[in-house]
Amino acid sequence: MKEILGGKGANLAEMTSLGIKVPPGFTITTEVCDYYYKNGKNLADEVKTQINEKLAELETKMGKKLGDSADPLLVSVRSGAASSMPGMMDTILNLGLNDESVKGLAQKTGNERFAWDSYRRLIQMMGNVVLEMEHADFERILEHAKESKGYKYDTDLTTDDLKELVNQYKAKIKEKKGIDFPQDPKEQMMLSANAVFNSWNNYRAIRYREINHIVGLIGTAVNIQAMVFGNLGDDSGTGVCFTRNPSTGEAKFYGEYLMNAQGEDVVAGIRTPLNVLELEKQNPEIYKELVDTCNTVEKHYRDMQDMEFTIQQGKLYILQARNGKRTAAAAVKIAVDLVNEGLIAKDEGILRVDPNQLNQLLHKQLDPVSKAEAQQIAKGLPASPGAAVGQVVFTASEAFQWTADGKAVVLVRLETSPEDIDGMHSAKGILTARGGMTSHAAVVARGMGTCCVAGCADISVDEVNKTVTVKDSGIVIKEGDYLTLDGSDGSVYLGKVATKDPDIGGDFGILMAWADEARKLRVRTNADTPHDAAVARNFGAEGIGLCRTEHMFFEGERIKAMREMILASDVEGRKKALAKLLPYQKDDFIGLFRAMEGFGVTIRLLDPPLHEFLPTEEEDIAELSKEMNVSVQQLKEKISDLHEFNPMLGHRGCRLAITYPEISDMQATAIIEAAIAVAKEGKEVHPEIMIPIVATVKEYSILATRIKEICDQKIAAAGIVLEYKLGTMIEVPRAALVADKIVEAGAQFFSFGTNDLTQMGAGLSRDDAGKFLKEYVAQGIYEYDPFQVLDQEGIGELMRIAIKKGRGVNPDLKIGICGEHGGEPMTVEFCHREGLNYVSCSPFRVPIARLAAAQAVVRENLKK
Ligand code: ADP
Ligand code: MG
Ligand code: MG
Repeated sequence: MKEILGGKGANLAEMTSLGIKVPPGFTITTEVCDYYYKNGKNLADEVKTQINEKLAELETKMGKKLGDSADPLLVSVRSGAASSMPGMMDTILNLGLNDESVKGLAQKTGNERFAWDSYRRLIQMMGNVVLEMEHADFERILEHAKESKGYKYDTDLTTDDLKELVNQYKAKIKEKKGIDFPQDPKEQMMLSANAVFNSWNNYRAIRYREINHIVGLIGTAVNIQAMVFGNLGDDSGTGVCFTRNPSTGEAKFYGEYLMNAQGEDVVAGIRTPLNVLELEKQNPEIYKELVDTCNTVEKHYRDMQDMEFTIQQGKLYILQARNGKRTAAAAVKIAVDLVNEGLIAKDEGILRVDPNQLNQLLHKQLDPVSKAEAQQIAKGLPASPGAAVGQVVFTASEAFQWTADGKAVVLVRLETSPEDIDGMHSAKGILTARGGMTSHAAVVARGMGTCCVAGCADISVDEVNKTVTVKDSGIVIKEGDYLTLDGSDGSVYLGKVATKDPDIGGDFGILMAWADEARKLRVRTNADTPHDAAVARNFGAEGIGLCRTEHMFFEGERIKAMREMILASDVEGRKKALAKLLPYQKDDFIGLFRAMEGFGVTIRLLDPPLHEFLPTEEEDIAELSKEMNVSVQQLKEKISDLHEFNPMLGHRGCRLAITYPEISDMQATAIIEAAIAVAKEGKEVHPEIMIPIVATVKEYSILATRIKEICDQKIAAAGIVLEYKLGTMIEVPRAALVADKIVEAGAQFFSFGTNDLTQMGAGLSRDDAGKFLKEYVAQGIYEYDPFQVLDQEGIGELMRIAIKKGRGVNPDLKIGICGEHGGEPMTVEFCHREGLNYVSCSPFRVPIARLAAAQAVVRENLKK
C-alpha cells in the first residue's frame, strides 16, 4: 500500500504484522497531503478528528498521554512518500516536550540530562522545520556553548549546559519570529504534520523528484509514531544498517551506529559513527537479534534492505526498512546472488538492475599502474565507486557553474546537505571530511552514480578560505587544483591520475547471459572505426547498425581529395578526386568487416552537406587556395555557393547522391570490393548499404538501381557468392508514409534514424531546441526531452505507420533503429513491443540495451 501509506508507513505496518518490534503509531495517508494542497494548505476537520481519535488509541496502548507533565508520551512526526527520497523531506522527533513535561520525563527516566537533551533537539527541529529558521541559527549557539566549555562532542554537554541551551534557543525563536516556542503538545504535533506536508514541495524535494524522474505521486504520508530513545545513556544507541553491502553487494551485514545518540546523528556526519561489527563486541545479544531481524525482513521483501534501528536501554526497535539504494556493481551482484540463493527467479533478477545504472560499471576506473605511482595524500571512506579526476571547488554552486563552463570538478565539502543537490549532480566526484558511509553525501552520490569519498578525516577543509589541508603532510590544495578520487577504496590523490576501462566478467557476465537468453531484440552498435567496433563487440554487440562514413573523409590526405572533388567543375574532375578516396574507403570497410566478422554491417552513404568539408576561417581558406591552386576569390565563391540557410533540410543525404551519383558509386564500389576481399579471406561478411534522407520512392529506386548494378557486376567479376542488402533510413516523415512503396521498390531493410525523424517529425531543431525543451519538460508538454527518450506518441506513431506499411509488403522486412534513442531503455522497450529486429546504439550503451531488451520481454510476460 505504498501509494497510500508511503513507503515508510507501509513498511512499518507490514513489519508490525510480521511481529517485528516497531514502536506503535499511525499513518496519515498521501491522499490527505493531496487534499491539504487542494484545500489551501489546510487539513479537513474530519482528518483532525481522526488524528485525535488515533492519538487517543496510541495513548491507551502506550499507557501515557501526549505531553503529560508527569509521564509524557512523546511522538515523532515522519515524512514518507511512495518513492523513497532519503533526507529530502522533514521529520521531527520528541514532540510532546514542553517546560513541564521535560521535568516529568526527567523524573520518570531518572535521567535529567537525557530529558533536556531531547527538549533542546525538539526546539531546534521545530525551529528549523516548522518555523523555517536557519539550521545555522541553532548550530551557532550550540558550537559556541561547546567552544566556551572546551567540549569536543555534543555528548560532553551537561544537564545545566542543556538547560541553558534551551533558554538560548527559545530566545532565538523569540528574536527571529517574535513568538514563544509552542507549549501545547497537540499544537506541536499538528504544526509538525503540516510542516511535513509542506516539505513535500520544498526545493530540494522537487529537485530530487526531477533528477530521479519521480512523477505521478500525490504527496507524502505522515507517520506519527511513539518515540523510542537512543540517547538514554551508554546502553542506548541508534544506527542504520544494510542486509548486504550497498557498495559492493557482498552478502555481508553492514552498518553504522552511535551509542547515546538520536535520529539523524548517524547520517548527519556530526560524530563519525562506528562500524556495526563493533556492536557485536559491545553487545553480542543485541547484535544477533538485529542481524536475525534484518534477515527476516530481507527474506520477506526478497531484496536487500536498508534499515534504521534504535536501541533503548538494551531493547532493539526497528524504525524503518526499505529496499536499499545501491551502486550498479552491488545491484548486479545482489540480483545474481538472490537468484542463486533461490529467493527470486531469473526473470526477477533481470528486472532488479536498472539498465541505465550499468553505465557506472562500464565506465572508467583508475589505471592500476598510474594509481600505484600516484601521490596518495589522504584516505576516506569508499562511499560510492568509480574514479573522478577534476578541479577542486568548495561550494555546490561553483560545482554547478564550473561544470557549465565545461570543466571537470571535484566538489570538496566538510559535509554535504540536501541544498547541495545541484552541485553534487554536476561534480565528477565528491569528497567530504566528515560523515560515514550512510551520510548524505554517500547516499546521494551512490544514487547518482557519482564517485564519492566521504568522512576523510585526514584532511581539514576550510570552506571560507577555499583550501584543503592534508593534516600530516601539510600539503595545501587550493580552488582549481586537480585532485583524483577513487570511490572504490576511498583514496585521494594529488593531481590527475590515468583511468582505465572496467572489467565486465563475473556477475556482470552472468546477468548479461541471462538477459541474452531472455531478449528477442538483437543489439547492434553505431561504430565508424574498427576500434569502436571491437569495443562494442566486447560489450556484446551483434553487428553494426550504423556506420557513418563522413568521418572517413576528414583524416590527412583524404580531406584534400574530398575538397578537390567538391571544387571540381565537372564530373570528370570529381571522378578523378573520388578515385583517390576509393582505396582509403575500401581499407576502412575491410577493417570494419573483419572486426564484425559474422555479423551484419550497415554502412550509410555520405550524409552531411558538402560545405562541412570546406574551411570557414580566412587563414584556412588562404592555405587551401595555395594547396589547390585555386584563387581565394574562387574558393570563397564556391563556399558561398554551397551556403545553405537551413542545412538540416538542405542538400544532404541521398540528395547529394542524386545530384552527384559518382559519390555513391565510389562508396558502393568501396563497400563491395572490401566485402569481396574479406570474404576471400574466408570470413563471413554481411554488408548492408543504407541510403540516408530518403523521402520519396524515386530517390530510393534511382540510387538503388545504380548501386545494385555496381555491386552485382563486381561480385560476378570476383566469381564468388556474396550476399548484400540494400535498404534505407526512415528519418524523413514522408518516407514513413510511403514505406510500403519503398519496399515494393526493393528495400530490404529499414533503419529508423530517430534523431532526424524527431527533428523533422516534431519540427524541432536539435541544435536550437535545447534552450526551451527544458521548460517544455518542466511543464509536462513533453514528458522527456524527445531527443533523449523517444516520443512514443508522435514520432513513435510515424514508426508504427512505417512498420505496418513496410511489413505489409514484406513480412520479413528487417527493421532497426539507429538514432541516439537506440540505447535508451524505455525506447528499447518500445522497439521490442513494435516488433523491431534490432536496436543500434553507441558501444558503451550496448549492455544497457541488452538488459533493457530482456526486461521488455520479462515485463511483457508478467502482463500476460
Ligand atoms: P528520513 O525519511 O529522512 O530517513 P525518518 O522519518 O526516518 O526520516 O527519521 C529520521 C530518524 O529519526 C530515524 O532514522 C530515526 O533514527 C529517528 N526517528 C524517527 N522516528 C523515531 C521514533 N519514533 N523513535 C525514535 N527515533 C525516531
Ligand atoms: Mg529514515
Ligand atoms: Mg539522419
